[in-house]
Amino acid sequence: MQKEKCTAIILAAGQGKRMGTKVQKQYLEIGGKPVLYYSLYAFEQCAFIEDIVLVVGQEQREYCEQEIVLRYGFKKVKAIVPGGAERYHSVWNGLQKVQEGYVFIHDGARPFINEEILTRVYREVQTHKACVVGMPVKDTIKISDEDKFVLDTPKRSSLWQIQTPQVFETAIVKRAYEQLMEQDDKAVTDDAMVVELMLGMKVKLVEGAYENIKITTPEDLTIANVFLEK
Ligand code: C5P
Repeated sequence: MQKEKCTAIILAAGQGKRMGTKVQKQYLEIGGKPVLYYSLYAFEQCAFIEDIVLVVGQEQREYCEQEIVLRYGFKKVKAIVPGGAERYHSVWNGLQKVQEGYVFIHDGARPFINEEILTRVYREVQTHKACVVGMPVKDTIKISDEDKFVLDTPKRSSLWQIQTPQVFETAIVKRAYEQLMEQDDKAVTDDAMVVELMLGMKVKLVEGAYENIKITTPEDLTIANVFLEK
């Protein structure tokens, strides 16, 4: 593998409204540690990741720095930056701290990312420049109209559920986000979509794992505890 600098942006500035708790989902504990600890640990341990940029809510900055970064000795965290109202604002703020090589954009609410997935996507991004981790869907997916009647049923074999990390050549994703920030309509839900829409680039799907869940609703915490016990 060629040696290009790899930086991770770990996003932890969401409100986590769907969890229904006062504490944001990325700070709830599983196995006695905050959810965010686990993804930081995975990137800290990963040999080819050099730096981590952590994006957090302004009010959680002190807690994150003291109780997570310093407490667990995450030395690769080189910057802690404030997030924004929407996920793309948070990514944009994180991108300001990244200059070169490849960038791995990861949801801090996905604790089960591991070195195997990181290595797989790192290998692919060197050829394809823009990659997202995901898995083929297991359920049939239907497209609904506004009245909840089925409009269409896409062929299941071509559908993937998208996870993170989403990994790009830094220059490419920065260019895409620069263009997005100039637009009025910013209806994007992931980083690949920004690259697809702004640059018309092909994005490569890379297999993640069904365990690489995002902790979003209370039942995800139950599942996460089961995965941890394994
Ligand atoms: O809201 P959603 O589940 O899509 O969030 C995915 C990840 O992005 C979470 O780790 C969350 O903390 C982060 N996020 C963020 N800033 C936002 C919204 C979400 O950093 N404004």
